[in-house]
Amino acid sequence: MRTLDVDVAIVGAGVVGCSIAARLSAARLTVCVLDRCHDVCEETSKATSAITDSGWESHPGSLEAQLLKASNPRWEEIAERLDVPFRRAGTQLIARSREQLRHLDQALGHAHLNRVAARRLDAAELRALCPYLASDVLAGVEVPADGVVDPIRLTLAYAELAARNGARFAFRAPVIAARATGKRIVEIYTPAMTVRPRFVVNAAGLGADAVSRALGAEEFVVWPRRGQYLVVDREVGREVERVVAQPPSEMGGGVMVIPTPSGALLLGPTAEEGREKEDRSTHSEVLADVFRDCQAMVPSLRREHVIASFCGLRAASDRTYRIELSERRSNVVQACGIRSTGVASAPAVADLVRELLLDAGLGWTPRPDALERLPRRVAAAPPGPEEIVCACERVSADAIRNALGGPLPARSVAAIAKRTRATVGRCQGNECLPAVVRLFTAAASHPTWSTPVTEPAATLGVAAASAVGSR
Ligand SMILES: Cc1cc2nc3c(=O)[nH]c(=O)nc-3n(C[C@H](O)[C@H](O)[C@H](O)COP(=O)(O)OP(=O)(O)OC[C@H]3O[C@@H](n4cnc5c(N)ncnc54)[C@H](O)[C@@H]3O)c2cc1C
Repeated sequence: MRTLDVDVAIVGAGVVGCSIAARLSAARLTVCVLDRCHDVCEETSKATSAITDSGWESHPGSLEAQLLKASNPRWEEIAERLDVPFRRAGTQLIARSREQLRHLDQALGHAHLNRVAARRLDAAELRALCPYLASDVLAGVEVPADGVVDPIRLTLAYAELAARNGARFAFRAPVIAARATGKRIVEIYTPAMTVRPRFVVNAAGLGADAVSRALGAEEFVVWPRRGQYLVVDREVGREVERVVAQPPSEMGGGVMVIPTPSGALLLGPTAEEGREKEDRSTHSEVLADVFRDCQAMVPSLRREHVIASFCGLRAASDRTYRIELSERRSNVVQACGIRSTGVASAPAVADLVRELLLDAGLGWTPRPDALERLPRRVAAAPPGPEEIVCACERVSADAIRNALGGPLPARSVAAIAKRTRATVGRCQGNECLPAVVRLFTAAASHPTWSTPVTEPAATLGVAAASAVGSR
């Protein structure tokens, strides 16, 4: 059993935990991030709309609204510094019925209360700006400050920055128990490791209730709110520039058409209260409704352009944005209950958690040699055809070899996909999977059948072919 002494132990390597790790890594602190999965960004943060919401719809004055507003102007700088794909796409809320028109007025009022710039557009203005919208659109509200970011690259970039600055990551390290002296946690336990932290941050997303319980901190409940999506190929997706949304009504179910930085479109998500925290199944009848509602807004969408489907699980909780020093444990900061906007608020959440830790006595000496930016990934010259492994996403063999090294090396096909996008393009790995696996096995020198597709037990030898598509 290994023992590790650290200033801060962060539980959870999603976007929230990794943004906190990156922020703390600017100081002379020992930081470790513990995650139950085999890689960063394996749960909610990898299956999300990733709209960098300006907070226009949030409850005015709420912590969520404040953190979204504080994060929003920073995205260009963050994306440039961490080499993360981002686009300030803007949101276009539209109305196609009288009922939805009333909602537009409410939305505009909300945006003004939150001091987020928004303006009403009539049908002619909308058609001029967004020719891809349906002809029955009556009016809209435009929110230019919203954007879209690649949530996986963002989480990985935060993690990589933290790791390069000395933070340690332990994977397959579920926090299962802890020991306290008085009100302070002195040890936390994973099956293979004991960590002795001065402070603990609970950023465990869907698992935050169990972690809080293991720490003897607050009792609360987290449950999954399921969101199903369809992915539309980028060749057609590129024509939709803005996030297109309509209020729920008899005209449709509140789903969106979401451009992503890669050019693909997301259609969705649904909002279904779930019970099983592992249930990421998708359902064809639900997705048929999603497609119908999105096509009603953007009529050029065609079923044959859909390349994949997936389901994300929001961490719904009895209180949202539980970001505070625990009342029961004086060295535990809760950073959880962040249901629907945790990507967009992550920069300011990290700042807030740092302040809470400082107030609790952490101490802060800047690390003079701390990295603040990551090297750009763009190759000096585009790869030649003989070097390309994944033709859909134009990923070279070198890019895959790079993903297998570095401070947070890929340990599965899914982890390679996260770092390079190989296997997640139009063919969903049908063409490139053998070449990706060959490169993986050459580096890891183990038999092909034992290549992990996702978690180590889900190897190529035992995982159904469908597991590749649904990772
Ligand atoms: C359908 C959907 C749409 C969304 N749309 C948006 C959007 O447009 N914009 C936006 O900003 N946000 C959106 N969100 C919300 C956003 O994705 C989340 O708020 C954010 O990803 C939460 O990040 P996290 O780090 O808290 O959680 P996670 O990414 O789930 O990370 C938590 C980590 O904790 C680990 N963990 C759990 N228990 C333990 C344990 N016992 N020990 C060790 N590790 C543990 C998990 O393995 C996981 O890696 C959406 C979410 C969904 C599902």
